[in-house]
Amino acid sequence: MDLDEFVKQAKERNPHEPEFQQAVEEFASSLAPALERHPEFCQHRILERVVEPERMIQFRVTWLDDQEQVQVNRGWRVQFNCAIGPYKGGLRFHPTVNLSVLKFLGFEQIFKNALTTLPLGGGKGGSDFDPKGRSDFEVMRFCQAFMLELARHVGEDTDVPAGDIGVGAREIGYLYGMYRKLTNRVTGVLTGKGITWGGSNIRPEATGYGAVYFALHALADQGEDLEGKVALISGSGNVAIYAAEKVLQSGGKVLTLSDSSGWIHAPEGLVADQLAELKQLKFEERGRLSEFAEAHQGVSYSEEGKVWQVEGAQLAFPCATHNELEEADARDLIANGVGYVIEGANMPCTADAVHALQDAGVTFGPGKAANAGGVATSGLEMAQNSQRTSWSRQEVDQRLHSIMENIYRNCADTAERYGKPGDLAAGANIAGFVKVATAMIEQGIV
Ligand code: NDP
Repeated sequence: MDLDEFVKQAKERNPHEPEFQQAVEEFASSLAPALERHPEFCQHRILERVVEPERMIQFRVTWLDDQEQVQVNRGWRVQFNCAIGPYKGGLRFHPTVNLSVLKFLGFEQIFKNALTTLPLGGGKGGSDFDPKGRSDFEVMRFCQAFMLELARHVGEDTDVPAGDIGVGAREIGYLYGMYRKLTNRVTGVLTGKGITWGGSNIRPEATGYGAVYFALHALADQGEDLEGKVALISGSGNVAIYAAEKVLQSGGKVLTLSDSSGWIHAPEGLVADQLAELKQLKFEERGRLSEFAEAHQGVSYSEEGKVWQVEGAQLAFPCATHNELEEADARDLIANGVGYVIEGANMPCTADAVHALQDAGVTFGPGKAANAGGVATSGLEMAQNSQRTSWSRQEVDQRLHSIMENIYRNCADTAERYGKPGDLAAGANIAGFVKVATAMIEQGIV
């Protein structure tokens, strides 16, 4: 099959969707060896089928703000592919959310979920609602209005949403409360729930911890570990803060974090007490990094430049949002001797940045593999909910670690087997695709 022609057609069929086009192009760029080895994939037109979401739902969300004004937002759920399990993927509440962004995220989610070794399909959803600056009551009313519609389309064996940007423990709580009220059913319909009402230990930490476990296995392959190593991290949300925590626990140092207004630099490295304060500031008080820097001597704050310019690091973990690390940033990292870029966020590196990093011999851990620890632990939450049981922190952490090791090995080995040694992005794409494509063929033309 002519992959260039496939990408061209996918772009023509999905105009005005640059993020989705980017994700499809990146994915297709590594598939040639898989299609060569599996001619049946072309015969069954798997590529053409896999880029079409099975179902997309768009709905109006109307709610009253604290001034009793009617607010109108858009809500979506993209149910992309359930060949290997119920649709699974987060909800994002952010003003930049649109169908292109959700289709890119849902598409990536199919292959990420396939890599986790768990039976999970791919989906994504969200709204252009911005929780920032809204009161708790406003967030609650919005979440309730959102669930009034979403409830018809989800279920523990159908589609199990989770959190993402702008959707944390608070939002999952309000969404879950409304689902329970509407359906009179207490089920594992959402993951990321509170620990006393069906949530899993380690779920909040899982994406960040998982990205660092992935990095540890990449380092181990080169005979190295994190002890004494220095990391640059972007973002200061769920993924970034727990990635920082795990770097510290593994003997490394974290020099930077960022939010959408600016970034902090701690030349001596952030310490555990500071991370504990940051969790309180970001998750409870919903504060900004500028406030954190003001309260800590030796931590500077800047709204100019990016964390990637800081010297002295060996690892970089982009953990904020898509396309935040561009080619020029990649060149800064390369010039400063960074040897590992591990994506905590989804598609945080632009295609040009990825090429520059790979050409320079930097080990690149793609998000669909490196940040799969979150959804994997969501899968473990679903398993605990089905069994009406709860596993200890230690048990979930061990399972998470072994899943991340498996994912790393699968990416590295698949890359090797398909003639792309060292190319973890190709390994991730091929391994995820082969699994989903095979399931689709086995289930016939549906
Ligand atoms: P959070 O909402 O907890 O944090 C997001 C962080 O990124 C915040 O610091 C936010 O800054 C910053 N950010 C968001 N948008 C932008 C932007 N446009 N420009 C600059 N900074 C921005 O989200 P998560 O930590 O959950 O998610 C981060 C990334 O990880 C996303 O790409 C998400 O899809 C991905 N991911 C998350 C998983 C999870 O389990 N949560 C699982 C797998 C992937 P500010 O506070 O100023 O908005």
